[in-house]
Amino acid sequence: MFAFEIYSPEEEIFHPLFKEKEVRVFLKRDDMIHPFISGNKWRKLKYNLIKAREEDKNHLITFGGVWSNHLLATACAAAKFGFKATAFVRGEGVASETLFLCRMFGMELKFTERDAYRNKRLLFDTFYSNDTSAFFIDEGGAGAEAVQGCSELVTELKGNYQHIFCAAGTGTTAAGILKGLLINNSRALLHVIPVLKGAEFLKEEVNKHFIDNPLYEIHNSYHFGGYAKTQPDLLNFISDFSASTGILADQVYTGKMMYGVFDLIRQDYFPSGTNILAVHTGGLFGLLGLKEKMTFKTQSGH
Ligand SMILES: *Cc1c(COP(=O)(O)O)cnc(C)c1O
Repeated sequence: MFAFEIYSPEEEIFHPLFKEKEVRVFLKRDDMIHPFISGNKWRKLKYNLIKAREEDKNHLITFGGVWSNHLLATACAAAKFGFKATAFVRGEGVASETLFLCRMFGMELKFTERDAYRNKRLLFDTFYSNDTSAFFIDEGGAGAEAVQGCSELVTELKGNYQHIFCAAGTGTTAAGILKGLLINNSRALLHVIPVLKGAEFLKEEVNKHFIDNPLYEIHNSYHFGGYAKTQPDLLNFISDFSASTGILADQVYTGKMMYGVFDLIRQDYFPSGTNILAVHTGGLFGLLGLKEKMTFKTQSGH
């Protein structure tokens, strides 16, 4: 329905640690799907857009924070596929490069104070109950449509991997990958790295998409203090990672996931000969939030 052929190769990355531990690490480059409709956000949007089109609704209404990859993806996808888009943005008087780009793609932003923001259905009903063209897309694109979209990632895989890693916010992407593993009769084990602190809710969020609880592992110690929180250790890691691979990882999602992958390899979690696939879920503009915070070992100016 949407003429958009995606490109997301599996790419091996190299590091002395992998050599020492005799493991191979590959990235599923969902960050290459599109510069703005990036990573899991395209996968989560795809079936929502198809549904909106089928229901003849051409105004996407969605929700997100100031650095939301979902908002940027929705703004660009709406422009590309001929929808109108409006977003409720959490917080008043907030600004970011991400929101600037959303505006460039023609998205209308409604800045919403935090209490009102919590009840998204109420916001939608208050503003759009009489608008027959309005189509509700939950924050981050959660829901069955999103799970279906993410499951396709597994179907695309060409290589053989014993272990697959992904970062988790809501856990929708993780649920989609698990669905994909089931559909494809894959025996790979999914490892989930929550980026929020206290992610006990995550198991429930993932399992609700299944009749029988699927098997996977959650590694709960790589959140670095909570959502979008960082520590110098993490910041050093992501700049080293980018400088040694030519691939960016952000501090909110994929940086924490890759930190976990490296840490578990260092701890001999995997036997030698293991092939690991980490899903690069994209969404790199949040990195710009670090502009002032980042320090580099070799500062410019000699
Ligand atoms: C939104 C996002 C996630 C989290 O996905 P969930 O489905 O909410 O778990 C992971 N990585 C990136 C880059 C994201 O933008």
